[in-house]
Amino acid sequence: MINLVLFGKPGAGKGTQATFLKEQYKLVHISTGDLFRNNIKNKTSLGLLAKSFIDQGDLVPDRVTIDMLKTEVDQNPQTNGFIFDGFPRTEAQAGALDTFLNEKQMEISATIALEAADDILVERLLERGKSSGRIDDQDEDKIRNRFEEYNQKTAPLRDFYAKQNKFHSVNGIGTIDEITNRLTRLINTL
Ligand code: AMP
Repeated sequence: MINLVLFGKPGAGKGTQATFLKEQYKLVHISTGDLFRNNIKNKTSLGLLAKSFIDQGDLVPDRVTIDMLKTEVDQNPQTNGFIFDGFPRTEAQAGALDTFLNEKQMEISATIALEAADDILVERLLERGKSSGRIDDQDEDKIRNRFEEYNQKTAPLRDFYAKQNKFHSVNGIGTIDEITNRLTRLINTL
């Protein structure tokens, strides 16, 4: 079983790369951002709760995020493994994920960060915002707030996974194919 965490700031290309990797390694792709957006679209109570956080570029509280993630993992018992995209984003989430997977005799195989400079990411997100309709992609202040959330709450997870010898990083600048190749070269060594 391969369980990958794709790590990186908003706009780093996690979702794009997960789409290729899930085909190649026959994995289930779980994007917590997509799950929240589906809940918002379907006007569920979870969507209602999450919307104000997401629109401001703040993180949704851990408890609801962790519960949503667990439900999604439990719904895919037969898979070869998972790509976690946008989760975990806090130490509480990372700890909860380890405990949850251990209970199922599973574990994270590797965490891979896609690295790119903030200014490039802002440009990418503003461009994406023109077609995605995502409020959090359309305003530079909100984008910078998402980076701030990342720096404060998510960046410490590098150490969390490095201590387990599971942290890797890949240059996230280049064509989509180039980045997919970098990722597959790394995954094939795991
Ligand atoms: P993303 O699509 O991964 O950029 O996520 C969009 C937004 O969803 C984030 O800015 C957060 O508001 C929320 N979100 C997604 N994943 C998480 C998470 N693991 N923890 C808390 N909030 C999250």
